[in-house]
This record gives sequence, C-alpha cells and structure tokens, in this order.
Amino acid sequence: MSRDADADASRAARSAEASNLASSAPENAAVASSRASSAPAIATAADAASSVASADSGANAASGASGAAPAPPSMTVRTVPLQTSFDDALKRLGVDARTASLLERSYAGVIDFRRDLRQGDTVSVVLAPRAPSGPGDARAGTTADAAKPVVREPLAVRVQHGAASHDLFLHRNLQGEPFYYTKRGTTATPSFARYPLAYTRVSSGFALRRLDPVTRRWQSHDGVDLAAPAGTPVHATARGTVAFIGRETGYGRIVVLDNMPPYQTAFAHLSRFAKGLHIGSHVHRGQVIGYVGSSGWATGPHLHFEVRVNDVPRDPLTVALPGDGSGLHGDERKRFAAQARRLSALL
Ligand SMILES: [Zn+2]
Repeated sequence: MSRDADADASRAARSAEASNLASSAPENAAVASSRASSAPAIATAADAASSVASADSGANAASGASGAAPAPPSMTVRTVPLQTSFDDALKRLGVDARTASLLERSYAGVIDFRRDLRQGDTVSVVLAPRAPSGPGDARAGTTADAAKPVVREPLAVRVQHGAASHDLFLHRNLQGEPFYYTKRGTTATPSFARYPLAYTRVSSGFALRRLDPVTRRWQSHDGVDLAAPAGTPVHATARGTVAFIGRETGYGRIVVLDNMPPYQTAFAHLSRFAKGLHIGSHVHRGQVIGYVGSSGWATGPHLHFEVRVNDVPRDPLTVALPGDGSGLHGDERKRFAAQARRLSALL
C-alpha cells in the first residue's frame, strides 16, 4: 500500500478532528499534540477497506512511516458471532472488562442479551488505540510505545440482532469519562420516571437512621414514604423485570423490579398487586404494578418506594437517574453525529 505525504497530512487533520470528538476536554499542548498523533484516523467510506487492511496486517503505521507527518495508527474493524453472551463476544473482540461492562449498561435499554439472542446475531466493533486520557497515560504513551501493548478501544459498536442493527459510538466528556451514545448523541438507556404515583405528600424521607414509628427502634429508612389514598395505582418508574412479588416482613406486599443495571426499584405496603404479575414478568415504564395500601408495618396508607443502585439504597428523590436530559447538545452533538456517520460506514 503506497502512502504519500498529502494523504498522511489529510489523515492527520481528520484524526485531529476525531480526537476533538473523542474528547472535548480542554487540554494542555503536550497532551493535545500527543493525542493528535495517536488519535484514530477517520477513514472515509472510500478508503475504509485499505485502512482496515493495513490494520489487520499488524503494521503500526506510526512507527514505520518515514517523514515528519506521523501516520495515525489505523483502525481495525472486527465482527464476531453473538453466541453465548455479549460479554463473551466483547472478550473475543479484545475489549477490556471495564469497557465491556460500560457497553453492557449502555445497551441495557436496547436489547436484553440474556434472553433476546438469536442465531446469526453478531457484534462488530471499530477499534482504535486508546487516546491518552491524562498526564499519566500520556507519559506512558511516549516512553513505552514499543514495549507496552497498545490498548484498543471500540469507537463504534454494532449489534446486529435479527434484521435490526443497534449502533453506539464512543464519546468522552470534559473529564475524559467514556460514554456510548446513539448516532444522534443520545443515550440508548430508557428514561426513569422520578415518581411511581400521584402522591399527596412525602410522609417520611430517606434517612440513614431514624426512629421507626412502628418498631420504635432506631433504624435506617431505605426509601421514601409517599402518602396517597389506599387503592392509588403504583407505576413502574422504568422498564424492568419482576425480581420479587409477594409478602415480606415489614414491607408487607412488595414488588421488586430489576431495571437496567445497576438499578433496582422496590414498592412496598401495597394493598394488592396488578393482575397477572409474577416473578420474571416484563414491565414497561408507567405500567401499573400494584395499588397503595398499608400492608406490613405501616401506620397509614402510603407507598414505601426504594431505588437501589448496585444494591445500595439511594434517596429516590435525589438519586441520579438515567435517561431524560442525558446526551449531547449543540455543536458537540453535531460534531459527534458527523463522526458517528463516518464510523458507521466502517461497520
Ligand atoms: Zn418507608
């Protein structure tokens, strides 16, 4: 494959653009220049094939190229069948565990990899060497280029599921934290509603320790109590699967939902459950799952509502919830969308 200075220069220019997109963090000159040279080249549809071919031949163009303009390392496009699990497929693609878990969360609202897999489903990625994300990384990148294996991260991921394909693209925020968004710069995670019912007042807030009015003991209150007339419908605040439905000491009639990881929600003191609901039932956001009551240890009709994040109870009134409002806006969104279009042509 021949290369000339003009081509390299234009690739370098495009790669600088890519690095802007991959991270909009303001950087000092050293980091910025080091990133420009190691940022992924953005192949247009026309030269995608050659770019990919050179990547697969294993050549790190940057180290072999002559001349002043360093050629950015090429991107690699790889596809594997989605057989046993998403995690396993990502492992085979060489994606590190942390990125794999981020991708799994990012796709959680799109596809349920535990039950939706079909014969012929595939995962494709556009991999590129990870840009240095901080002073430590930058130093490692310049001093140990040859010795250290290059960490390659997915700039774009496509899950081909039956006839549908679901694409997500990498974005790094000002702090360098990675996110995967749809090509429109929005999160693929479905949104959460804050409140599961029309309540009249918060009768008891989230508290680490409080005097329980029923047991007369000091204990934590792992949720909020939302007072409402008995029989008021209680809605799922996000899509999920019923993890538990039944009676529990203290809670009375309770429904626990596994929402998209790492979220779980619980609804207690219900007077009754919605008909037909059982463990494993899928519920959508807004679906009625039960009705307000005072079963269990309750002094009056109210909903005891919990939001757990990685199994830790968090204040439902203030906990950060995915969905609404998250994603990119303005020029950042436009740049991201343009980059996503170029990357998706490679998948
Ligand atoms: Zn409560």
